[in-house]
Amino acid sequence: MSYYDQHMHTHFSPDSAESFENYLEQTDGLLVTTEHLDYHDAYNGGVDTVLDYAAYTEKIDALNAIHEGRIRRGIEVGYTPESHARLTSYLEGKAFDVILLSVHQNGRYDYLQPIIDEMDPKAVMKEYFELCTEAVRQVDGANVFAHFDYGIRRLSVTVDDLREFEPALKRLLKEILTKEMALELNTRSMYEYKNADLYRYMIGLYLEMGGTRFSLGSDAHSVQKYRYHFDDALALLRELGVSELTLFNNRIAYTEPI
Ligand SMILES: [Zn+2]
Ligand SMILES: [Zn+2]
Repeated sequence: MSYYDQHMHTHFSPDSAESFENYLEQTDGLLVTTEHLDYHDAYNGGVDTVLDYAAYTEKIDALNAIHEGRIRRGIEVGYTPESHARLTSYLEGKAFDVILLSVHQNGRYDYLQPIIDEMDPKAVMKEYFELCTEAVRQVDGANVFAHFDYGIRRLSVTVDDLREFEPALKRLLKEILTKEMALELNTRSMYEYKNADLYRYMIGLYLEMGGTRFSLGSDAHSVQKYRYHFDDALALLRELGVSELTLFNNRIAYTEPI
């Protein structure tokens, strides 16, 4: 069991207060944190959420010196069309083991904000999936497409609703395949926001299209959610005939059996 949780946050993200030290206590193996980069962060009052790369790498280097190099560096890039140029220039020359790509907001509001409840759910879905596809197309060098359902977490979407968007979802998956990115199983989405059936459907589409790369991440913001419901997500993958997960070291993909 050499795979590890490939989506976690510490206090280097504004919405987490967790420490590396606490995560290190959860395992003797490798771990990675994937801290937020969201310009004009609607969820955070419109300020720029920018990872302090110097402090982040300094902290990891210091801990790695006494913990056998067990910590890898990651970042979760939140795409908006307006921030694309700034995201690209931020990433230039910085060393990460894994880059997650996310769509959290549309430049005006975050998809987890209450304003979503007043909108037409189908219009939200259409906008969100198109934005996801654009994100994957525009951003080069990302490794994992995170929580494909983030934009619909507040909506009560059924598999039948999602099926209506199958052409849009296939366009998104086609871009993910072209970029050789992994599709994330976000276990908080699946088992906290109760979207496991949506993941089952999306994974089925991805497999049909020839997809093989899966990433497993809890999106933990505290150790309580570390490897959240991993056994359930792994059982789903095995049931669907998947036998390995894709991990990234220095942004090079490799696989581990499940
Ligand atoms: Zn996210
Ligand atoms: Zn996250």
